Amino acid sequence: MRLSRYFLPVLKENPAEAQIVSHRYMLRAGMIKQQQAGIYSWLPLGFKVLRRIEEIVHQEQQRAGHIPLLMPTLQGADLWRESGRYDDYGQEMLRITDRQGREMLYGPTNEEMITDIFRSHVGSYKDLPLTLYHIQWKFRDEMRPRFGVMRGREFLMKDGYNFDIDKDAALHAYNRHMVSYLRTYERMGLTAIPMRADSGPIGGDDTHEFLVLASTGESEVFYDSAVTDLRLGDRAIDYDDRDQVASVCREFTTLYARTDETHKEDLFNQIPEERRKVGRGIEVGQIFYFGTKYSEPMKATVQGPDGAIVPVHMGSHGIGVSRLLGAIIEASHDDKGIIWPEGVTPFHCGIVNLKQGDAEADAACEAIYASLTALGLDPLYDDRDERAGGKFATMDLIGLPWRITVGPRGLKNGVVELTSRRTGVSEEMPPEEAVQRIAKIYAGI
Ligand code: ATP
Ligand code: MG
Repeated sequence: MRLSRYFLPVLKENPAEAQIVSHRYMLRAGMIKQQQAGIYSWLPLGFKVLRRIEEIVHQEQQRAGHIPLLMPTLQGADLWRESGRYDDYGQEMLRITDRQGREMLYGPTNEEMITDIFRSHVGSYKDLPLTLYHIQWKFRDEMRPRFGVMRGREFLMKDGYNFDIDKDAALHAYNRHMVSYLRTYERMGLTAIPMRADSGPIGGDDTHEFLVLASTGESEVFYDSAVTDLRLGDRAIDYDDRDQVASVCREFTTLYARTDETHKEDLFNQIPEERRKVGRGIEVGQIFYFGTKYSEPMKATVQGPDGAIVPVHMGSHGIGVSRLLGAIIEASHDDKGIIWPEGVTPFHCGIVNLKQGDAEADAACEAIYASLTALGLDPLYDDRDERAGGKFATMDLIGLPWRITVGPRGLKNGVVELTSRRTGVSEEMPPEEAVQRIAKIYAGI
């Protein structure tokens, strides 16, 4: 993309309404525009990152054997009456009446609808296990929408639902979700710690929230600092191997890590003092096992191997896709702007032409742009007739992890400059080498 033809409405001033850094940078970098409290348009740069995050979520869900579908945002009230949640859900649910007087709602979540799909089409244990998921907009009429996309009213969520013959099989699905989530967040450059959470009205003790540590997080967290060193890395996972998947979950959940809802002071005090940490975290996902809570009232049953008709065991598993943009920025920025991890960056690299209109500099930039594009990469070429300082400030603000700077002086010596956004370190090298370096960085991502 050439910046002269792109739509990147950056703001010079700090927007007064933004209280936290991610919200401020998303507005300043021209990623989002607020339309109403907690409701945003996704401008091209923000939309690009949102799509990249979605893509990672899709890949990791499908790697775990989960199947994508798409359910609508609007739902009928009747399904929610079957589960008893239509009245229980309260004011967070946006209720709508259509011209026929039918009661509808903008879905805050999809347990009822997916259970309805399941009961309409599945009747035998032979069709299990089954996990279906979608990535769809949700609406919750939050009392205090704030912090930009972190606590929106309309927000994008991945929500997945497992259907299993018994509790053991459903717990395997739960564990599969935990491991696939760990990999998902790591690919986004995040450390998200699974923490034992409160199941609230859902019941049972099988629920974990995934928290990204950040001083601006809304949850208070208590943890053993050793959990922050755990990494899944690129080890091979066989998602059908119950023991392997369970052992990875044990590895990540044995050390103490809890939110204030489940915190136990006596257990916490058993951690060696220097590793005992209290901080704040952003909830970027949650997994639940809730047994037959929906399948019983909604009659989602299957015939088991012995011929008996039994309600299926279910769980639901969510990732805050749009909230993740905010969480990633909270975890990765400096005073000049965003620093995108390579896994989610909107463009792989920036190209800055220090002297637009100089025949040699223009030709070198065009050649670099063409080579990167031919390699399947997506560069952003700042080809505007602007001062170098302004170009650098824009690149730093929008946070592309790599920048190639091209100017007549370097070109005389046959070199351009390759700069890392994270470290600020610049190296001179011939243009072809800079292209190869970028290609190599992204080859493994
Ligand atoms: P919270 O406690 O933050 O209100 P929740 O526990 O009600 O969230 P879940 O039902 O667990 O939310 O939804 C799954 C995920 O969706 C959450 O982990 C979070 O990342 C995201 N999410 C929930 N509410 C919002 C919101 N208002 N804006 C953006 N993302 C949200
Ligand atoms: Mg939650």
